[in-house]
Amino acid sequence: MTQTPDPTTDGAPTVALLGTGTMGAGMAANIAAAGLPLRVWNRDRAKAEPLAAAGAQVAGSPAEAVGGADVVVTMLWDAGSVVEVMSAAGPGLRPGAVWLQTSTVGVEGAERLASLATDLGVTYVDAPVLGTKKPAEDGTLVVLASGPEPVRATVAPVLEAIGSRTLWVGEAGAGSRLKLVANAWVVTVVEGIAECLTLADGLGLDPALFLEAVRGGAMDAPYVGLKGRAMLAGDFTPSFSLAGAAKDAGFVVDAARSAGVDLGVLAVVREHLDRAVAAGHGDLDLGATYLAHRGGGA
Ligand code: NAP
Repeated sequence: MTQTPDPTTDGAPTVALLGTGTMGAGMAANIAAAGLPLRVWNRDRAKAEPLAAAGAQVAGSPAEAVGGADVVVTMLWDAGSVVEVMSAAGPGLRPGAVWLQTSTVGVEGAERLASLATDLGVTYVDAPVLGTKKPAEDGTLVVLASGPEPVRATVAPVLEAIGSRTLWVGEAGAGSRLKLVANAWVVTVVEGIAECLTLADGLGLDPALFLEAVRGGAMDAPYVGLKGRAMLAGDFTPSFSLAGAAKDAGFVVDAARSAGVDLGVLAVVREHLDRAVAAGHGDLDLGATYLAHRGGGA
């Protein structure tokens, strides 16, 4: 019988990364920079090509990318796109490979993917990440990992390459639940900043005075200066897209409803983000929710 390689004893794991968008491209570059053999695939191949210079092989299909890989990383949009791509990858998967699923897919999505992993014969690690484009490029994401103990050593080199910290939070699915809690915080804070700037303006004040008033005190948070200044400068270069924030706010509200938790503020934030997407701001950064407050359509 042929022994499958044990990456924990036989050297670095071979990695495949599917989805080289805003987040996946930076993650892939860091996996390659860490010296792990890497194959990448993206639906729009042009977004994967630049990774060849970083040492990755660019594959023509998901099945080709995952061929022989010990660890398969997915960084796609939602559970639907992950199902589509992993089903296409299926014929190439090495039995017993570990699937490190890092996209934000919500509670039900994570359950659906766990069941797909069983069908595909791979071990599922549910590992969404905290951090946006820059932390992905810098290799400083915080990974909220959940999954079986025996495969944690196999994925460790990948986690070290993409993040500054990994929190192992329990059985597969717990990571996605914690991710929703964290994103509930992000969308609430950004919406709050947008409303405070709008309120200041409405009360006849220079909105920048709000940022100055809280700066450095207990009411401050790095996000206040970062997103607040960008809102006032009209810089909505996407780091975390408004469409992504709206998607995740939907997951938060759905998960809360299923859990019997009453989240009044987040339900309103979700509606507001949905309206901002409908007004055409979805491809901009989440901070563009400010445009909607300013009469840009929400
Ligand atoms: P993105 O730039 O829009 O990238 C999405 C990726 O998914 C692209 O590679 C895209 O391929 C692919 N994709 C979408 N639908 C597909 C389909 N049906 N079939 C095949 N591929 C498909 O988004 P992102 O910001 O990198 O986010 C990726 C995931 O990370 C999302 O779940 C997001 O919620 C989560 N996340 C984002 C951030 C952030 O700050 N941006 C932070 C943490 C987590 P194409 O290039 O061909 O369109």
